[in-house]
Amino acid sequence: MQFEGRVALVTGGSRGIGRAVAERLAAGGADVALSYRSNAEAAAEVAAAIERQGRRVHVAQSDVSQLQQVEALVRQTLEAFGRIDILVNNAGITRDTLLLRMSEQDWDAVLETNLKGTYLCTKAVLRSMIRQRYGRIVNLSSVSGIVGNAGQANYAASKAGLIGFTRAVAREVASRGITANAVAPGYIHTDIWAPVGETARQKMLELIPLGRTGTPAEVAEAVAFLATDAAAYITGQVLNVDGGMVMG
Ligand code: NDP
Repeated sequence: MQFEGRVALVTGGSRGIGRAVAERLAAGGADVALSYRSNAEAAAEVAAAIERQGRRVHVAQSDVSQLQQVEALVRQTLEAFGRIDILVNNAGITRDTLLLRMSEQDWDAVLETNLKGTYLCTKAVLRSMIRQRYGRIVNLSSVSGIVGNAGQANYAASKAGLIGFTRAVAREVASRGITANAVAPGYIHTDIWAPVGETARQKMLELIPLGRTGTPAEVAEAVAFLATDAAAYITGQVLNVDGGMVMG
């Protein structure tokens, strides 16, 4: 059990990649706190699955872009479990459209959830990680933040920003036994693709040397590895999980 005695906080753990990460960490022995924004039913399903694995779970509706909600989530998690060893900043959204049509609201919503949310959650958790001289922070970036993607100026900016954020934090807390890394998925089959049309999906598939979409479980394996003690000497890195879409 890689995560026996460990406590993980996974934002956006109710669906997709976050759900797979929460369940993977629990399977490794971690107790898990997970947050969601609106889908209480999905979050309750994940909680039940984690309890069936014999782990403790705390579920909270908490919007990552709202300071008070994030502080409450972290406070409740520390009250419930006494510590937070692993933080997975997974909550994320898209509002895809070409830049000339992109409203200020589209821009703000994506940046506030994806980038500001990660800043708020990391800051809120960091003090307890520094005190315990141990922490694993894993941020969900995207290949879109590395090579860009037409129609995703807001999303690509948020995901590129996350890489810079990850590296700055990695340098700040390295001496405290805390690592910070990013995982950059490619085309993973989840609800986030629902607004994307068939033609654009097909084009994306053609860019993938492995010739298929990835699964949330395949991303969860990469996140889990970076959260283990075995990854103690890896920090400030970006691990692509994209079927070879972006190399080098
Ligand atoms: P989904 O849309 O399937 O799930 C998103 C999750 O984030 C849900 O649990 C949702 O909660 C939660 N969430 C959204 N906004 C907030 C918020 N403001 N506060 C708290 N929780 C929130 O997305 P994926 O699983 O596909 O994506 C997960 C992460 O991986 C994202 O950061 C995404 O950008 C990244 N990623 C995904 C890729 C893919 O191909 N799928 C590719 C590259 C990166 P609720 O259920 O309540 O709505």
